[in-house]
Amino acid sequence: MTVVRWAPSPTGRIHLGNARPALLNWFYARRHGGRYILRMDDTDHARSTRAFADAIEVDLAWLGITPDLLVRQSERTALYDAAVEKLKAAGRLYPCYETEEELDRKRARARLLGKPPIYDRAALALSEEDKTRLEAEGRKPHWRFKLDGRPVQFEDLIKGPQTVNTASMSDPVLVRGDGSYLYTLPSVIDDIDLGVTHVIRGEDHVSNTGTQIEIFEALGGKVPTFGHHNLLTDAEGQGFSKRLGSQSISDFRDQGYEPMAVAIMASLTGTSLPIETYETLDEIANRLDFSMISHGSARFDPVELDNLNARLLHNLPYEGAAGRLTSMGLEGEAIWLLLRENLRKFGDIGEWAKLVTGPVEPVIADEDREFLALAKAMLPPEPWDQSTWGSWTDALKAATGRKGKALFLPLRLALTGRPDGPELKSLLPLVGRTECLARLP
Ligand code: GLU
Repeated sequence: MTVVRWAPSPTGRIHLGNARPALLNWFYARRHGGRYILRMDDTDHARSTRAFADAIEVDLAWLGITPDLLVRQSERTALYDAAVEKLKAAGRLYPCYETEEELDRKRARARLLGKPPIYDRAALALSEEDKTRLEAEGRKPHWRFKLDGRPVQFEDLIKGPQTVNTASMSDPVLVRGDGSYLYTLPSVIDDIDLGVTHVIRGEDHVSNTGTQIEIFEALGGKVPTFGHHNLLTDAEGQGFSKRLGSQSISDFRDQGYEPMAVAIMASLTGTSLPIETYETLDEIANRLDFSMISHGSARFDPVELDNLNARLLHNLPYEGAAGRLTSMGLEGEAIWLLLRENLRKFGDIGEWAKLVTGPVEPVIADEDREFLALAKAMLPPEPWDQSTWGSWTDALKAATGRKGKALFLPLRLALTGRPDGPELKSLLPLVGRTECLARLP
């Protein structure tokens, strides 16, 4: 059974860059009939909030994802405490007492000597008396994981064979001085506990994977398959940031974009699966093989989002629009089929619908007044259908000799108040004779 998880930190509203792993994990789960876990990485008490966590659930649902399970790391501390004891007993977790300033000085010294700024493991040499003395001074230990210092190899689902040499890394701090957990350890413990089979996340985590594979092994857990995808950047090539508050998923929702448009852009940018209209996320899941994810960059194009959004609306069947139309006081498939091809955003339909429901400000040029008066007199009796426009304008053509633009444009300007818009042959029956009479002089 495939089990994936998407593990955001609830420290802000999620943005397009966060939506990418959310969706890629979803596609993977759907494609393989697997389970999808939403895991709130909320061990950073200072920055995580319940409000942000709740908002993540809302944004995820808006994108069309329904997790099978929700877990919060803040509720799983007992599990982490037990694993910590296990690692301590195995000699893999050791207490360190250096302050931030002392560590800074060590790093500066290493750089001066032309050495990499790797933690020197001085704490490993501390005797029991040293530790007792340091703690009597009021120092609280933070705990580091003792790396094997070896090339850790893994077969990445997206990037192929990878090697991370943990010899070039500092032993990572897993537990802070105040007893709180950094991301690295709880993530591994949860992946083991929840039976996660595939860890799909951004390529900024590749080096973490080296560390985490060592932790999986130290805890006797089964190492999952890892897949690291290219990161989405904004149009300027900069990473998205939660703190900038820019282009969050909720911003796109508020601006009236279709969730499918946002989902497609967040997931398929930087892949070889074309950015085009898909009806469901499952359709994408079925077509997106992870070998299609580029190893190069993935740059978000806002113009492409706008165009895709419009195309999705132009193809949207009535069933997909009915609920929203009703809530805007608009009813009927005919009005949707008439107006959808003019939309860039769904909300535009409110303006376009005025062509049917009024009020319309007719535009009437002086030189067309006589022609339009004749047109009014020749308006056919109801019932009206798609053929009414054709028979009416044919008769007008015969009566006046007008044709082409000279025939059609004055009618359009009078009936709709604008030079462009939906097909008049479909518009006319929806407007009805009484209202058309009112728009003609
Ligand atoms: N909370 C981590 C992040 O948002 C999760 C990374 C992971 O998927 O392991 O970067």
